[in-house]
Amino acid sequence: MTQSISDLVRYLDNLFPRSLAEGWDNTGLLVGDANRRADNVMTCLTLTGATLREAVREHANIIVTHHPFPFHAVKQITNETVTGRLLLELVEHQIAIYSPHTSHDSAANGINQQWAELLKLTNVRPLIPQTDDETIGTGRIGTLTEPVSIITIVHFIKNKMRLDTCQYVGTPTNKVLRVAVTCGAADELVEQAKKQNAELLIMGEARFHTCLEAEADNLSLIIPGHYASERFALEYLAERIKMENKVNAWASKDERNPIRTR
Ligand SMILES: [Zn+2]
Repeated sequence: MTQSISDLVRYLDNLFPRSLAEGWDNTGLLVGDANRRADNVMTCLTLTGATLREAVREHANIIVTHHPFPFHAVKQITNETVTGRLLLELVEHQIAIYSPHTSHDSAANGINQQWAELLKLTNVRPLIPQTDDETIGTGRIGTLTEPVSIITIVHFIKNKMRLDTCQYVGTPTNKVLRVAVTCGAADELVEQAKKQNAELLIMGEARFHTCLEAEADNLSLIIPGHYASERFALEYLAERIKMENKVNAWASKDERNPIRTR
């Protein structure tokens, strides 16, 4: 029974413990008065002019934005910077901000776990465990129930994520069994995936040289894009918030991937 922002924050902190966030991250309630009501909750991947306009129009009390806002320390709040303009507008419309970010990536029911479930991986473990608890940690690795070709998995992801195109590295007919996943930007986790004998790594985005190195090491990559690798989880989160709390919640309808294809 959530009614105040502080109630919702307690609920979200429980889903996405702040102890799971990476040291460099900025997570939790980042803007707002915790004593105010939280009747209307909007989720989105990133706070932008478009997602904030929707929140104002639809009378959101709080935005749960996966990517932290603000992320860096702020010394001036003026209309001369994008961050300042967004902050001024949030304050003016009394809209709070909560960002789970890397806690959301690593949680027991977080984004990487959702990927593992989507792919029906078995024996799922974190790529980098954070505690003795093997249901939490950075990334996931597991085993498919039978060998599947890279191109079959590419088609599956395109279909699930409603993508027109999807980048990949490797031989399309190559069949794989051991699959790792890291949502968002995580080039530094490729080494971990290799160490744990992953044959395929599904990652949100990848640098060109990461792709070259993976190809040389016979590690296939599927790269659906940062947006597609995370946005679906904000839709799931909105449903979950609505079901488990006494609030109205929705995933932003105006949010778009800034990277376009044709
Ligand atoms: Zn991200």
